Amino acid sequence: MKPAAFDYWRAESIEDALSQLASGEGEAKVLAGGQSLGPMLNMRLATPQRLIDLNDLSELAYIRDQGDTLEVGPLTRHHQLAQSPLLRRRCPLLSRASQTIGHYAIRQRGTLGGSLAHADPAAQLPLVAVTLGAGLELQSARSRRTVPAQEFFVSAMNTSLAPDEIIRSVRFPAATEHEAEAFEIFSRRHGDFAIVAVACTLALRDERVMGIRLGVGGVHATPLNLSAHLQGFVGRQPNMAWISDVAQAVQDLANPAEDSRIPADYRQDLAGSLTRQALASALQRARGDAG
Ligand SMILES: Cc1cc2nc3c(=O)[nH]c(=O)nc-3n(C[C@H](O)[C@H](O)[C@H](O)COP(=O)(O)OP(=O)(O)OC[C@H]3O[C@@H](n4cnc5c(N)ncnc54)[C@H](O)[C@@H]3O)c2cc1C
Repeated sequence: MKPAAFDYWRAESIEDALSQLASGEGEAKVLAGGQSLGPMLNMRLATPQRLIDLNDLSELAYIRDQGDTLEVGPLTRHHQLAQSPLLRRRCPLLSRASQTIGHYAIRQRGTLGGSLAHADPAAQLPLVAVTLGAGLELQSARSRRTVPAQEFFVSAMNTSLAPDEIIRSVRFPAATEHEAEAFEIFSRRHGDFAIVAVACTLALRDERVMGIRLGVGGVHATPLNLSAHLQGFVGRQPNMAWISDVAQAVQDLANPAEDSRIPADYRQDLAGSLTRQALASALQRARGDAG
């Protein structure tokens, strides 16, 4: 199919994009990488009257070290997230997860802001944002506000973005000195969306777990942050029994909703086994045994 007719506007500045969006009165949409919006337009699942192209706004593509946080512009492409030496060092979970998104061509075009705004329940970047407790700065012609990732995702493909707002920047907490990360994904074929994905960070000092953050994607309409439920496992020595206990807890907590394509108990088992793999990888990295 072909898209329904729409007006096309190539924004010359952020202010220009915001004023176009405001005057679109809910019938305008911004275009970033086009990797989700393009198919939605072609299938007429999205029929905006006006498309505001952000791709000339290079001021929206950046990765900045702000001390305790890494500030990332919404037009930053997935491949830039995957390859940035700064992110590898300071926010490696974001970098590692980005390497697993789709195929090479998609990573060249797809953007952080587009992925978060699209809010696919199985997408990597919403999962990382929720697991790390990122903050999203949203801007319109009338206001600017910051929303925690957990509150930004409302339901599948549905966010708290107002029709006249854009994601202006995203702040991810920087990894602490003793923290290591892992991102595990299971999909039907290489490059497909995840059936289930697990993101985690583990802080290890003197062979004791000092902190754990863990999120599961693909089991509910929005990414599940289980970190608060796992705090009872902090302070222990991370041996095989510890890994099994955490994985069992995650499997029990994941409790996926029924789905016509993939049985819930299959996805629940996956949440447990991917957690086991993720914890083992993060532990290896925390001990300095793996890259
Ligand atoms: C074959 C294929 C495989 C894929 N596999 C994966 C995968 O495995 N994992 C995964 O996570 N994704 C996957 N994707 C999707 C890809 O990551 C997209 O890049 C992403 O979902 C949307 O980003 P985009 O920049 O292309 O946004 P667009 O398609 O341009 O826009 C998507 C939505 O976000 C809105 N938007 C864009 N930027 C902003 C902003 N700054 N502020 C507010 N709203 C904004 C748009 O208006 C639109 O509603 C796949 C896509 C394809 C085509």
